[in-house]
Amino acid sequence: MITVSKEDYLKAIAEAEAEGETVISATLAHWLAVTRPAVTAALKRLKKDGMVAIRSDGRVQLTSQGRQIAEQTIFRHHLVERMLSEIFGMPWYEIHEEAERLEHAVSRAFEKKLVEKLGDNDTCPHGNSLTLRSPADRRKKGQYLLSEAEGGSQCRVVSVYERDRKLLDFFEAEGIRPGARLAVQSSNYDGTLSISIGKRTTRLGAAAAEKVWAEKT
Ligand SMILES: [Zn+2]
Ligand SMILES: [Zn+2]
Repeated sequence: MITVSKEDYLKAIAEAEAEGETVISATLAHWLAVTRPAVTAALKRLKKDGMVAIRSDGRVQLTSQGRQIAEQTIFRHHLVERMLSEIFGMPWYEIHEEAERLEHAVSRAFEKKLVEKLGDNDTCPHGNSLTLRSPADRRKKGQYLLSEAEGGSQCRVVSVYERDRKLLDFFEAEGIRPGARLAVQSSNYDGTLSISIGKRTTRLGAAAAEKVWAEKT
């Protein structure tokens, strides 16, 4: 069992907010896969440290100090993923968990080195962007969830949900990865999509299709 650190909590709050979720302790228990009492204890500590504010309706909000640490951890996560992929050639579907561990060990000096070495790139190997995080922002750029694609349309995979290793393994096996071009043949009555990637045709369930952002080609 890995310990869920203060940084993980702050990051989860920032990420859940960015995805448009109302952050209450149940949200965090779900996101971090920890028990409700563990979340309650952690929030108490974070509040004492001035990292979060808890409203009377139970909603958790980051203070500016809490947000700063969350953003820094998210940035380091992004850099570590790029380092593992671009420097060490680790497969894109394996790097997220590794980055979850390593992000906490990155010092300010090492962060600077990583930025120098890797250069600016707003997107991680899963296609997720540092600046375009909310569904509303994505839609403004013309992105949509693959589950909403119409039969007869063509699209390019922009990004995939990266916090579920089994899902990433599945996507990799099906050829669904950032940059892949898909032809959606039909949107079926049972909620599945019939898609083709190159010469391969497959049926994709809604649970998976909802985890992919796409754009028209
Ligand atoms: Zn990641
Ligand atoms: Zn990523």
